[in-house]
Amino acid sequence: MKALVAKTALERELSRLERELQDLEGLLAEKRERLAALSPLPVHWRSVRCGKDCRRCPHGPYPYLRVKKEGKWRWQYLGKGWQPPEGFTRPQAFREELALYRALLKRKEALLERLERAKEALRGW
Ligand SMILES: [Zn+2]
Repeated sequence: MKALVAKTALERELSRLERELQDLEGLLAEKRERLAALSPLPVHWRSVRCGKDCRRCPHGPYPYLRVKKEGKWRWQYLGKGWQPPEGFTRPQAFREELALYRALLKRKEALLERLERAKEALRGW
């Protein structure tokens, strides 16, 4: 009986976490739109694989620019230390929004980890 109560609690926790993840995904999508609107350059959102044996792959999506370097098109990650090219405006607002977005992504990663642990615990029943 006790075990059954614990299992129900675990299942409830699992669906709570899944709802939280859904809300977070919606918020992240909103933030991506805002970032795209703030940037004077076309921002591409790419989900990337880390190449490790990882259950949370792919990660992101992260913002990139398509830039030509030495005659070749490359992806430029708009991560830490990114500076917009000279003449482009509103870099401050973009950087602030980007920092918020990254914090939300971190929350999502932590949430995915908790979800994974809850699922594993439930499999043990
Ligand atoms: Zn990964």
